[in-house]
Amino acid sequence: MSQVRRVAILGSTGSIGRQAIEVIEAFPEAIAADVLVTHSNAELLIEQAKRLRPRQVVIVHAALYHRVCEALAGTGIRVAAGQEAVLAAVQQPQVDVVLAAMVGYAGLLPVLAAAQAGKHIALANKEALVVAGALITTEVRRYGGCLIPVDSEHSAIFQCVAGEAHQSVRRIILTASGGPFRGMNIDQLRHVRPQQALQHPNWKMGEKITIDSATLMNKGLEVIEAHWLFGLPAERIEVVIHPQSIIHSMVEFSDGSLKAQLGLPDMRLPIQYALTYPQRLSGPWPRLDLLQVGPLTFEPADRNTFRNLALAYEALRLGGNMPCVLNAANEVAVQAFLKERISFPTISRIIEQCMSEADFIGQPGLEDYIETDRWTRQKAQALIETS
Ligand code: NDP
Ligand code: MG
Repeated sequence: MSQVRRVAILGSTGSIGRQAIEVIEAFPEAIAADVLVTHSNAELLIEQAKRLRPRQVVIVHAALYHRVCEALAGTGIRVAAGQEAVLAAVQQPQVDVVLAAMVGYAGLLPVLAAAQAGKHIALANKEALVVAGALITTEVRRYGGCLIPVDSEHSAIFQCVAGEAHQSVRRIILTASGGPFRGMNIDQLRHVRPQQALQHPNWKMGEKITIDSATLMNKGLEVIEAHWLFGLPAERIEVVIHPQSIIHSMVEFSDGSLKAQLGLPDMRLPIQYALTYPQRLSGPWPRLDLLQVGPLTFEPADRNTFRNLALAYEALRLGGNMPCVLNAANEVAVQAFLKERISFPTISRIIEQCMSEADFIGQPGLEDYIETDRWTRQKAQALIETS
């Protein structure tokens, strides 16, 4: 690569953000951190800034602004605070690539701002596409930017469809590990605790996505994400359980040929690919040795027991603001489960209830998404209080 790509990392202190920093440090000739954004982990942000020397840092939780300024005084690093500062930072001309790696709905406005600035967006924050996929993909096209997935399944599909005609793609097969509760029945799920749900068999990730993996909502969100990234309807996006997490996803073509992308369960590779695309650089990460991994197995996903997956398909089929309802209800319910205020199966019940009571909007605009998110959070909270 001739020029160094300057990256704004939104969520630099998170699981994806920290691994992105490892990637940046492995390729100093190709990528550099230009902006670091975090919500409230000021101490780690300060440490990262001192090491990487970005042009700017943003701390969203404004009460920590002075602490960060004080710690970075004399370094020449610009410090800003608050949500507006994030939107301004992603649009700056110095930023070549925006890595959206914050968690949840909070990613929506920054991803939209990056799209409207025509940026190369490396997207980990799947929730933004789930909430407002139509709006974001339209803006990416309108302003001439690009959207490269970081999610390992979508990175796999992106690599499988490279060089293929869209009409040749028959279906996408997303693989899922099945999470820690694979094979359990609903009675067993009533008694699972947050600590058990946080033990993912193959991946070490942030808390929210780890719970989503245990409920299969993560796969449901990924079905919706795949719809917007690859332009296929729900019935041509399938999910198969593959407990080893070695095949990251597959694409079946019209002639019956199936392509898969394989790798170790290590997010540094899809992060690297999204940051340096279309280049493939030789990194220091451990490589897949097929003789070491043993048998690769597949089984159907149990949508009856893991209702969230069925609800996500339903939200995608309904379209409009329904995926936004699904997402907001899920975010609130997951937090309540983590605080042990509701049981694991109640997460699905709350989402279903919100979906059945929400006002449907077929062609929502940004204001509709914001209002739908607000209404749903309030509704979900009320349901939790009475559950
Ligand atoms: P983490 O919880 O580990 O990290 C979240 C990051 O987002 C933290 O840096 C946090 O800052 C920051 N953040 C939270 N709220 C805001 C906000 N309002 N504005 C700006 N930054 C904010 O999450 P993960 O890294 O696990 O996941 C991030 C995203 O990537 C999610 O959308 C997830 O679905 C997706 N993803 C993650 C994978 C993984 O392996 N972890 C795999 C595939 C996708 P602070 O630390 O200060 O709170
Ligand atoms: Mg994934």
